[in-house]
Amino acid sequence: MAWTYDPQNIFARILRGEIPNKTVTETAHTLVFHDIRPHAPVHVLAIPKGAYVNLDHFAAEATAEEIVDFHRTVARVIADLGLDGPEGYRAITNSGTAGMQEVPHYHLHILGGRVLGRLVEPG
Ligand code: 5GP
Repeated sequence: MAWTYDPQNIFARILRGEIPNKTVTETAHTLVFHDIRPHAPVHVLAIPKGAYVNLDHFAAEATAEEIVDFHRTVARVIADLGLDGPEGYRAITNSGTAGMQEVPHYHLHILGGRVLGRLVEPG
């Protein structure tokens, strides 16, 4: 699979500072910010700073340093937002048309603060 990255996607523009965001935290390789249309009391998006379209692109082609930085940052944010207790959270990522991905830059949704319902609606 050859992934084609659109550098004009909205998260690329956020990373270039062309569009503001409510940043939760930022590291060398990762940015975490609040979703503009939250679906839960906590709804943040974790994105790598590199140009990756989706999870399989990131997992296949990111450097080990990027992959570790991303996941360690996600773990820290989950703890900082108080989602590491028994109530937990949901982390999801969408890809392509079936996944109904809106923004073609890999992002992990981290949702919490309420009971989130079932994983997917019946098809
Ligand atoms: P997807 O459907 O691609 O998995 O999710 C894209 C998410 O990005 C949506 O939850 C949407 O609310 C969020 N989003 C879209 N545009 C912006 C924006 O300009 N700023 C922020 N913070 N979130 C955005």
